[in-house]
Amino acid sequence: MSRNPFDQEHAILDQKIGTGLSKLGQAIRSQAWKGAGSQGLTPTQGQALATLAAAPGNAGLRLAEVAEALGVSRPTASEAVTALVRKGLVVKQPDPADSRAVALSLTQAGREQAGKAALWPDFLHAAVESLDPAERQVFYRALIKMIRSLQRRGQIPVSQMCVTCRYFRPGVHDDPERPHHCAFVDAAFGEPELRLDCPDHVAAEPALQDENWSRFLEQVVPPLNDPQSSP
Ligand code: SF4
Repeated sequence: MSRNPFDQEHAILDQKIGTGLSKLGQAIRSQAWKGAGSQGLTPTQGQALATLAAAPGNAGLRLAEVAEALGVSRPTASEAVTALVRKGLVVKQPDPADSRAVALSLTQAGREQAGKAALWPDFLHAAVESLDPAERQVFYRALIKMIRSLQRRGQIPVSQMCVTCRYFRPGVHDDPERPHHCAFVDAAFGEPELRLDCPDHVAAEPALQDENWSRFLEQVVPPLNDPQSSP
């Protein structure tokens, strides 16, 4: 009996997906170097700026929180923050919640620079636009699954995703385009609106996270309408 030469290819699909993601990672790192370098920053400094810009409220963040968000050690975060303070982009102030602690926040110049840093992933937009709407939706759900899996293993910085939020109510509405509910803003929303980095996120208890995750996975994702092909 002849053997299908593609059988082995099929078996190593997982490996190929890993290789593809690794190539995307290389492209992102290389662009981050270029983007940061053009502004006289290292990628870690640029990421620290973006992290401080995304911090909820005006209280700033502690060094440990910046280190955790970046997935780096405290000394590495401290080095980046010290350089940013020296450049006048970040300021250290007493933490309003604990006067013995120090909170880090952006200066006006830091906010402007952070806005530019946040644009670095823009180079990916053209690649994402090459996917049709249905592919984007499947890809986004797959990304959420992978980020959650890496997060549970402690292999990626914690992301403030809807699927781990105490305000998330998956699949509680009959509307297939807006099946989920955010109890923080008291509004229904759909798959494309699921957030990865929400400033209002509050981590749910582990049991609620697991329960919500199971309900989220039960949801059948309706195909998105392609606005370009709509009449
Ligand atoms: S508060 Fe933010 S993360 Fe939480 S469910 Fe609402 S939109 Fe999602």
